Amino acid sequence: MTVQTQKESFLNFVNGEWIASSSGKVGASINPANKEDIVGYVQMSTKEELDQAVVAAKAAQQSWKKLSGHDRGTYLFKVADILESRIDEIAECMTREMGKTLPESKGETARGIAILRYYAGEGLRKVGDVIPSTDSSALMFTTRVPLGVVGVITPWNFPVAIPIWKMAPALIYGNTVVLKPAQDTAITALKVVECFAEAGLPAGVVNVVTGSGSVIGQALTDNPDVNAITFTGSNGVGKRIGQSVLARGGKYQLEMGGKNPVIVAADANLDLAVEATISGAFRSTGQKCTATSRVIIQNEIYESFKEKLLTKTKEIRIGGGMIEGIWMGPCANESQFNTVLSYIEKGLEEGANLLAGGKQLTGEGYDNGYFVEPTIFENVTSDMTIFQEEVFGPLISLIKVNSLEEGLEVANDVQFGLSASIFTTNIQKMLSFINEMEAGLVRINSESAGVELQAPFGGMKQSSSHSREQGEAAKEFFTSIKTVFIK
Ligand code: NAP
Ligand code: MG
Repeated sequence: MTVQTQKESFLNFVNGEWIASSSGKVGASINPANKEDIVGYVQMSTKEELDQAVVAAKAAQQSWKKLSGHDRGTYLFKVADILESRIDEIAECMTREMGKTLPESKGETARGIAILRYYAGEGLRKVGDVIPSTDSSALMFTTRVPLGVVGVITPWNFPVAIPIWKMAPALIYGNTVVLKPAQDTAITALKVVECFAEAGLPAGVVNVVTGSGSVIGQALTDNPDVNAITFTGSNGVGKRIGQSVLARGGKYQLEMGGKNPVIVAADANLDLAVEATISGAFRSTGQKCTATSRVIIQNEIYESFKEKLLTKTKEIRIGGGMIEGIWMGPCANESQFNTVLSYIEKGLEEGANLLAGGKQLTGEGYDNGYFVEPTIFENVTSDMTIFQEEVFGPLISLIKVNSLEEGLEVANDVQFGLSASIFTTNIQKMLSFINEMEAGLVRINSESAGVELQAPFGGMKQSSSHSREQGEAAKEFFTSIKTVFIK
């Protein structure tokens, strides 16, 4: 099945059917590399339509949960094959909708395929333990049951991988899904859902309704038949969602922002550290929740690190993500672009020293897009806004420290705790970093950005609701444990 288009309008998928919103309204999805390029239109749906999707998901769950894990896995393997056959088309759509370069979009789509296969296999893995009872004539064990209907609310920065890393585990454990993707990348998400539709999942098992967060996201959050909400996005929105779901007794999982540091110790391999800093900070235009945003450098090597970093930063090729050889694309949308420029202003106002970038790019190939130069500040202190707040753009701050101890203090001096990395060849420093760093992901001699689908992912402090996603950790969120006692 493919989405029927009415003047490039993409439809909602509810109870196995592609349908237009009764609102009669559509929203445009715009290419941030060229705002005159409209990728297509998506439905601006109403609360009623969202509620219908929940009704469909609730009804479908009754039979979906009764299938064996093997049978549910068979569907996910099929979805993976279909997505694989459409990788080029879907990756191009992603690049047009949110601006990351085509190789990155392809890499992300390939990751989506791998995640589907990983969770398809999960249908055959163990779900419980036998626990010795004090009664020798009894059998006691645990099993896991699905939660019911899961609401999935996703951001625009990983429009294929994030919906899949939430939907695939939800489905394999017997839940049904209503997806509310970010408006900015809703077409890419709808194409992913087309793959589920084409794989022949029973009607109502996967539904997607597009529209604004404040209408559709809110309605999903508030619907009492949605047993759990899994959310990735900003802290402000996430916290409000968590409060609402908690108030009605639902389960929730929030993956939110970061202010991820990299520490460069005096004994680091500087070339490696420079390369990883640039990749972690500027790939995807800094719009990864795990992107590097603070670089904490020991004073002995500060000047040589800085010089190498500035040289390499100048080599970055910026432009439309579809163009071959381009390394960094635009900011994903106008508001993100304005946010980045306003943080640059703030940095200057508060007395940080601008070393590189700092401006919007203009001229041929740039005028119609949301392009900002890779920006590096130094003399940044922990009381400054650019030190504390997530920018979600190509902006980093350099901070000089006298020791690893001071470096760790500076690294931990923020409300976030998602990801962190260190460059050092000293095992003692590695161990101190592993022990002292307040982050859900700690990486040594490797950039702060980067997650593997088979390992738990999530943050400490204000970066998450303290739950984890992906790998085996997903089971903890998407199922409920039942303890069984048989006498
Ligand atoms: P966002 O503004 O919080 O939006 C995330 C999703 O929530 C979108 O689908 C949005 O809909 C929806 N939403 C907005 N208001 C809502 C409401 N009142 N109720 C329910 N849903 C609502 O975040 P974003 O700008 O898309 O993404 C950037 C943020 O995501 C950054 O802070 C980044 O750190 C974070 N992020 C975190 C991770 C992680 O795993 N920790 C990964 C990626 C991104 P609309 O489409 O209408 O906006
Ligand atoms: Mg867009």
